[in-house]
Amino acid sequence: MHVRILTGGIAAALVALSLTGGQAAAAAPRAADAPLAARILTYDAGGSAEFRSAVNRGAAIWNESVDAVELRPVAAGQRANIRVLADNGWPRALPTTLGNGTVYIGRQAVDQGYDTIRISSHELGHILGLPDRKPGPCSSLMSGSSAGTSCTNPYPNAAEKAEVEGNFGGVLAERVPAGRAEVIVD
Ligand SMILES: [Zn+2]
Repeated sequence: MHVRILTGGIAAALVALSLTGGQAAAAAPRAADAPLAARILTYDAGGSAEFRSAVNRGAAIWNESVDAVELRPVAAGQRANIRVLADNGWPRALPTTLGNGTVYIGRQAVDQGYDTIRISSHELGHILGLPDRKPGPCSSLMSGSSAGTSCTNPYPNAAEKAEVEGNFGGVLAERVPAGRAEVIVD
């Protein structure tokens, strides 16, 4: 009896190991495939004046944070998906369609002490389909100004990243027929 229990335990361990192995084996072909191209969105920071480096940093933060979309500076003479402008108003984004629109890095908030990189990545977040989540903690990018001027976090949290991946049809979603994506991504 005692031996049987042990055997059962070992068998269970072996099943667990083989399941783990099975998962690893199933995942391997996916990783070996050529990586799916991220959707490229171009941005034009030419009108962002003194905020240009903050805008570039905001774009780079999104590129570090998500796989499904990539923000690239627009080539000279090309029309960008996203125009980024500086003005004296409150920062805002005017999305047209997902991934397209205009962002204003407003000096009103900068003058009040809000962080220019957080503003940039927040407004780009709107273009990537994220709504405001106010009030909210500093760990949330889309809590925006509600987190106060002391908050300089320019990074989306896990939920915000996942939402953008979903908006742009993450890796898994692209591999299954539309309509089944939700189930498989889950
Ligand atoms: Zn906002």
